[in-house]
Amino acid sequence: MEEYQDLYRSYFFNSRDLACIATKEGYFVQLSDSWEVETGYTKDELCAEPYVNFVHPDDKENTAHATITLSRGVPVLKFENRYRTKAGGYIWLSWSAISVDTNGLVFASARNVTVEKELRNNLDESNKFKLMLLARVNHEIKTPLTSIKGYTQLLELTIDKKGIAVSYIEKILKNVTFLSTILDEITDLTKLYQDIVHLKYDIVSLGSIIDDSIVVVGDPNGVNLVLDRRYFETLINVDVGKFKQCVVNLLSNSIKYNKPDGSVRIYCNKDLNKIHLFVADTGIGIPTDKFYRIYTPFDRLDRDSTVQGTGLGLSITKKFLEKMNCSISFESKVDVGTTFRVDIPLV
Ligand code: ADP
Repeated sequence: MEEYQDLYRSYFFNSRDLACIATKEGYFVQLSDSWEVETGYTKDELCAEPYVNFVHPDDKENTAHATITLSRGVPVLKFENRYRTKAGGYIWLSWSAISVDTNGLVFASARNVTVEKELRNNLDESNKFKLMLLARVNHEIKTPLTSIKGYTQLLELTIDKKGIAVSYIEKILKNVTFLSTILDEITDLTKLYQDIVHLKYDIVSLGSIIDDSIVVVGDPNGVNLVLDRRYFETLINVDVGKFKQCVVNLLSNSIKYNKPDGSVRIYCNKDLNKIHLFVADTGIGIPTDKFYRIYTPFDRLDRDSTVQGTGLGLSITKKFLEKMNCSISFESKVDVGTTFRVDIPLV
């Protein structure tokens, strides 16, 4: 036993992490040597006053909450706060703490995560800036693009219908429309990443959204669309516009990536808590080794550019669905087809 106590002491005092034991009154009673190295205070100085005195003023409240949690016997893991150093600065500590005995002694160990934290903060700032820039550029491009589209449509109305110019105008309009789609999708994605998407929930039948989506997608390009209307009357609570956008994405993909004379079947299943919507196509399928890339923005899974797309639709769809407490999954086999499934909570 003696020998274990020596081992324990050596483990505790030489720990590279900041190990400590504190009383329920909020004083340190034992500290590993690393405390002196990291904070610059001696152990005596650290034990002389309540530990909360060393905590950054902005972190005192959270620290008090963590202490209450511990006093209820609940471990506190990955809790972060700032500790004052003797030099007058602060270091970030990440804590794992438990309160194990009836005297309320707290056993804890912390890691100095200052460098990680600063790196993370810089990254957050730089990502925020990039998203803001993207949103701004997007907005600036959208206005002239809308104007180009409008004037091209006017031109189409006024020129000689038989001339070669008609086909040029059609090409301009097709590309302008595609550019517009890209900008809209980038706007959605930047909003999702900035977490500034506002959802407006309504209770509607799933079938009404599917029917509207079919209208939006329009001509199925020779693909046979089969609707199994069972459970279509089921009510769901979603943001109708956003949910429709998701169904439109799944449906237009099932048409875009289909084969000549292929088909798309839309059907539903239901269990106790959820309704499941399926969009099943008999298309070209997705190779198994690319499954993991399917929701990555801008990743088109190396498709050739004959099929127009941005590689953004599914990443947006997944994020929107998750925001609405729904989930998405898929099964696919090359040359056989792909089935996307959306699970929606019942109202
Ligand atoms: P986009 O269609 O604009 O490229 P998406 O994000 O909607 O972007 O889809 C990402 C990629 O996933 C597509 O480029 C395509 O390679 C693949 N994909 C999506 N849906 C299907 C499908 N039903 N069948 C086969 N491949 C699909």
